[in-house]
Amino acid sequence: MQFQLNSEQREIQEAVRRMVDREINPILAKNDPDRPLPKDDVKTILQICATQGLTSARVPESAGGAGMPALTYGIMVEQLPPVVLFMVIGQEVTATRIYYESTPEQKERFLPDIIAGRRITCTGTTEPDVGSDPRGVKTRAEDDGPDHFRVTGRKMWITNASICDLINVTASVGKDARGLASMIRLIVDRDESPFEAHEIPTLGLRQGHLGEVAFDHCRVPKANMLGEAGDAARVLTLTWLANRPIIALSAVHMAQRALDLALRYAGERQQFGKLIGGHQLVQKLLADTAMAITTSRLLCYHALESIDSGERANQISAMAKRYSLEACQRAISMAMEVHGAMGISRELGLEQLFRDCRMLPIPDGTNQILTLIEGRELTGIQAYRA
Ligand SMILES: Cc1cc2nc3c(=O)[nH]c(=O)nc-3n(C[C@H](O)[C@H](O)[C@H](O)COP(=O)(O)OP(=O)(O)OC[C@H]3O[C@@H](n4cnc5c(N)ncnc54)[C@H](O)[C@@H]3O)c2cc1C
Repeated sequence: MQFQLNSEQREIQEAVRRMVDREINPILAKNDPDRPLPKDDVKTILQICATQGLTSARVPESAGGAGMPALTYGIMVEQLPPVVLFMVIGQEVTATRIYYESTPEQKERFLPDIIAGRRITCTGTTEPDVGSDPRGVKTRAEDDGPDHFRVTGRKMWITNASICDLINVTASVGKDARGLASMIRLIVDRDESPFEAHEIPTLGLRQGHLGEVAFDHCRVPKANMLGEAGDAARVLTLTWLANRPIIALSAVHMAQRALDLALRYAGERQQFGKLIGGHQLVQKLLADTAMAITTSRLLCYHALESIDSGERANQISAMAKRYSLEACQRAISMAMEVHGAMGISRELGLEQLFRDCRMLPIPDGTNQILTLIEGRELTGIQAYRA
């Protein structure tokens, strides 16, 4: 058992930190903090991240990816600004999903541009009426002659959607024996099959792109279908396993930044004739914040390590995201409390951490769904579907 990063992991972490400071933060800083970044800037960021293997972390080297362990990926993305983590994970997870069970021709056609960040991609599963239960997807892919599908439906809350060049769509081709959607995975290439997409303004992660997509009888070549009908749920689940602790590490990143600010402020600000860091109740806020960060980080690393060891990680991965999101949101709030009124000012950026972190309990399993996954793993009884 090893609880410390080894020297190689520390070097990797440091390399990402340097990349963020030198190349990514200036791009974020020159843009409006409350508006989605221009597409060209997102592409530049993805191309910078591609140099470290972050756009293809889970794609094996044999397919042109970085093929890194999930724990290494987690240690690296923990260093990214949260809005960048979402851009990168949207790209990377779609590359991974395209990799699974696609033909050699499909890999050759789609993966190199995605991995290099030349084309932006995303995965569209969620719909206006379909969220936690993806098996209810209503977007339909119907036969349109021997070589094409006609895709009709809407996708919502999709990371990178409004600026994407390719979208990996989950669509229904009918019902299975249990009356659930028989789902396929289809790559819709915007150049050959145009579709509408627009931004959805949100509470946090405002430099990112969260969008809605509309397919109106969109003709898509059948050659773009990945794998087989019915494998979509399995592929989504496979990638959600590591996504959950990865997203949680973004919350850890934010809570750590909040703690760093709180420690500095507690060592400078005086009230009642002494530094506020010398008041016992302020020390409790700081100690509780540090405890939330340490426990969350360890749980996320443990979940990622379990995935790397090939263990069944459904419970630990759900636990890592649910626990970390609850703990880190509380931690950011406590760090704000240490700052008094300064905590809610825009000047310090704590309010942005608070807003950004509030976005994270929703994707890849809400807290309630994660609780039910943990319950299913403990009891062997699944409670969410009749
Ligand atoms: C930042 C961000 C990025 C996202 N990126 C993507 C993306 O790239 N691609 C994509 O397809 N989607 C994406 N999503 C959408 C996300 O996956 C969904 O929002 C999520 O699955 C929840 O669906 P919903 O919002 O429709 O909520 P619903 O499923 O409608 O849930 C509403 C409430 O009911 C609760 N609930 C639902 N079912 C149960 C149950 N059985 N038991 C108890 N409680 C239940 C939920 O926990 C929640 O509190 C993103 C969302 C966000 C916020």
